[in-house]
Amino acid sequence: MIDKYIGNKYNELTIISTFMKNGKKRCTMLCNCGEQREAIVGNVVNGSIKSCKSCTAIRVSKQNSIKATKHGLSSSGLYQSWKCMKSRCKDTTHPYYSKLNITYCSSWESFEGFKNWAELNGWQEGLTIDRINSKLGYNPSNCQWLTRKENSARANTGRIPWNKS
Ligand SMILES: [Zn+2]
Repeated sequence: MIDKYIGNKYNELTIISTFMKNGKKRCTMLCNCGEQREAIVGNVVNGSIKSCKSCTAIRVSKQNSIKATKHGLSSSGLYQSWKCMKSRCKDTTHPYYSKLNITYCSSWESFEGFKNWAELNGWQEGLTIDRINSKLGYNPSNCQWLTRKENSARANTGRIPWNKS
């Protein structure tokens, strides 16, 4: 009797034979790329296995690079700024931030929200985020992008209100 799964196609895989192994129904499949793979039939039918091992590896690495592009490789410094901002604000042991209760705008909870603001407000790779009034939190009206040099110059003045002279 021919197994009902034989000849069925699931994603990239076509089942060419089935057999029992360790009490589980397994199958040999042919991937679209021509490679064969063995797996438990249930995992193929439910879609947790979609292709042969090499095609799966290629797909995973493609997905990872899509994710990286989505966040924008050029915005890796921006991502760092965002992460640091969040961890500084959440650090209850931080002597300065916790005392002044420095927080960040709720629209910046997500990186996308932060990125949108940053790109509309002159962010460039290499710039650092600065709070215009250092007693207030991170929000769109209290933040600007400065070069590291400008930012440390401000820090050295004890962060008194920004004065370009
Ligand atoms: Zn394949």
